[in-house]
Amino acid sequence: MNAHCGAGRDPSQTEVLIIGTGFSGLGMAVALRRQGKRDFIVLERAQDVGGTWRDNTYPGAACDIQSHLYSYSFRPNPRWSRVYAPQAEIHDYLRATAREEGVLPHVRFGANVEKAEWDDALGMWTVETTNGCYRAPVLISAGGHLSDPSYPDIDGLKSFKGRIFHSARWDHGYDTAGKRIGVIGTGASAIQIVPEMAKTASHLTVFQRTAPYIIPRRDHVYSEAEKGMFERFPETAQELRDELFWGNESRFPQRRRVPAFIEQITATALGHLEQQVPDPELRRKLMPTYAIGCKRVLISNDYYPTLALPHVTLETAGIARIDEAGVILRDGRRVDLDLLVVATGFEVADLPIAEVIHGAGGQKLSDVWTAGGQAYACTTVAGFPNLFIMLGPNTGLGAGSMIFMIETQIGYIREAVDFVFETSSIVEPDPDAQRAYVDSIHKRSEGSVWLAGGCSSWYLHPVSGKLTTLWPDFMTQFRAENGSFSPQGYVVRRQLAPGGRELEREAQ
Ligand code: NAP
Repeated sequence: MNAHCGAGRDPSQTEVLIIGTGFSGLGMAVALRRQGKRDFIVLERAQDVGGTWRDNTYPGAACDIQSHLYSYSFRPNPRWSRVYAPQAEIHDYLRATAREEGVLPHVRFGANVEKAEWDDALGMWTVETTNGCYRAPVLISAGGHLSDPSYPDIDGLKSFKGRIFHSARWDHGYDTAGKRIGVIGTGASAIQIVPEMAKTASHLTVFQRTAPYIIPRRDHVYSEAEKGMFERFPETAQELRDELFWGNESRFPQRRRVPAFIEQITATALGHLEQQVPDPELRRKLMPTYAIGCKRVLISNDYYPTLALPHVTLETAGIARIDEAGVILRDGRRVDLDLLVVATGFEVADLPIAEVIHGAGGQKLSDVWTAGGQAYACTTVAGFPNLFIMLGPNTGLGAGSMIFMIETQIGYIREAVDFVFETSSIVEPDPDAQRAYVDSIHKRSEGSVWLAGGCSSWYLHPVSGKLTTLWPDFMTQFRAENGSFSPQGYVVRRQLAPGGRELEREAQ
């Protein structure tokens, strides 16, 4: 396969190419920059850094993981305004990271990856983008899994004549005041949007397909004294971070359906529902019918009370179709709308980036992932030499901070990149080692709440029914298994230099 850049286009050459400037791509870039050993270029399709925290600007957007934990361990921020920081503050944190860590000169903005292709003769990846062509021996895909909006497949959606936008593509030019607003979805995004929309809508209708479990949000604004303490005594911020981490880690047995754990969290959620929703009919509609944790457990103090407001309706009849004026329910009733917000999540099961990555022999990553993502150490794929995938298969979490997973992968990939350059090698996992690794993940996920909890979720792949997005074990186990690179399990081909003559091929 002869990768090329199109007529008359010379590639910009570097040692490492990173796709994406969200938490994972940016974190990887900071690690390489601090290490100072490698040339690298970061490709970003937008005009700013920040990934999902740049794109999700909907009213009420905030992180539901505590900010002192949901931030890089190597860049603590003593001045988080509150326990759960709002989106703009997290985005500012990422922008400051890119700027202050000297990453920005490495970023090529407006560079949407159209094709990434491995050239075995060159020992290089060639990456065609909307902003030039690039070439490097190592490619790190850090496109994220919450980056491409998923639109609902509802009959007539396109015929709607009012305004419609996805939660991740909010149109701030549209004035929602006094409008009849509909929100499709009741996931983590929707429950943040709904209370905000209710503040000014003339009427708000929430279209629920599945009731989520919701627990109280234990939030507070940090006082100047607290921020000062975190600043002057960084060990206090570290202690808080550790406490938050172990709090999440200790909840993992809920996902394994250990009775005492699952009973306790279920009681917390149903107590919250009982306490916040006195109306028995509304409470009945909001009662989940599957085991807690099968879908993401949400946190909110204002979602339930919003649904009880006189100008807010929770519709559970199901959507039959949409026409130019609004939504027609399965029971024949109609809801006319000015604005329809689709808070229907992201393309996670089949990552769009896999459509443009072509490995040895030209095979597309999406073609080898038809039954869901599979990767060795959750990071590398047989047939895709020197490709490292961040937040790829089985790296998501049901509870806990993704930053821990990201930093684990940063450590692994940095060591792998050192190995590649220091030994002039091309690495890809041995197919048998990869199969055994993926099998071990699926074995571990058996009996978990995600598979046995009685819900349908985007955590499971629609074709294989397997858990392909989440890590099915303790976070500490992820780090123990995948925190450090070893050539064991890899096929290593040695070259005189990247792009040079192949010397030998050895399975480790
Ligand atoms: P989501 O969790 O995938 O939720 C999508 C919602 O849309 C669900 O309620 C789903 O119903 C509904 N839906 C999808 N298609 C539908 C259809 N055709 N008809 C009716 N309803 C439909 O998406 P999200 O809320 O954007 O959250 C995605 C992920 O982003 C979260 O799990 C979380 O990891 C992350 N997130 C995090 C935060 C944070 O604070 N850290 C905030 C927002 C999002 P069903 O349940 O029936 O499928």
